[in-house]
Amino acid sequence: MFLFTTSRCISCRELLTRSENALCLTCHQKMARTFMLPKTNNIAEQRIEEACRISWAYSHYLFSKGESIVRDTVHEFKYHDNPRLAYEMGREVGEYMKQNGMTHLFDLLVPVPISWYRRLKRGYNQAGEFARGVSEATGIEMREDILKRISWASSLSTRNAEDRKKVMGSKAFIAKKAISEVRNRKIAIVDDVLTTGSTLGACVNAIREKEENADIGILTFSINE
Ligand SMILES: [Zn+2]
Repeated sequence: MFLFTTSRCISCRELLTRSENALCLTCHQKMARTFMLPKTNNIAEQRIEEACRISWAYSHYLFSKGESIVRDTVHEFKYHDNPRLAYEMGREVGEYMKQNGMTHLFDLLVPVPISWYRRLKRGYNQAGEFARGVSEATGIEMREDILKRISWASSLSTRNAEDRKKVMGSKAFIAKKAISEVRNRKIAIVDDVLTTGSTLGACVNAIREKEENADIGILTFSINE
C-alpha cells in the first residue's frame, strides 16, 4: 500500500515526508532539552519533593513559554489522536536513557492512568503510549494495571465520609491489589508533562499507602518552566 499524504508539520507547517510523524526533522532537532541528570537535585526533583518522597526524577524536554515545539508535540499526542507520536517519543527518550546509563534506576514502568471516561473519549492514554515506547527501547517492563484513576462520580457517591476524604486527598488514584506483585521493584511513574507535580505526587503516594518504602522515581517526556 502506498499512502499519499499532505500532512504538515504541527509546528512550522512545512510538508512532511513519509517517514516523519507530525513533526519535521528540523523542528524535532530544535526541541529544547533539559539535559538534566537524575539524583542531582535537578529542577524536576526539586518540584516534586514537596508533593512526595522519590528516589529520582528525569524530564527529557523543556516546555517553556518562549518555546512552542515541545508544547505543540504534547498537545498533538494529548488532544489530536496521535498515540503513535507519544510512542515514538517514548522510544527516543528510552534510547537516550539507555545510552546515558540511566536505566539502572528502574525496572518497572508505571504510567499515570487516565479515567475510563477520558480513555473512552480519547481512545488511548498518552502517558501509557509514551511509557510503552520507553519500554520497547529499554526492554524494561511496563504495567498499566498498577495504578487506577477513580472517576469522581462513581467513587464518591458510594463511599463513607472517611473513604471520601481519602479519595479526595489522594487525588483519586489508587494502587490496585497488583501492588504485592511489584514489591522490591524499582518503579518509574511515567507521564507526558511535569507541571506542579501534584498528579505525579498523588500516584507516588497511592503506591506508598500500600508499600511505604517502595523505590519510586519519576520519568516525564517534558517539564514546564
Ligand atoms: Zn517543522
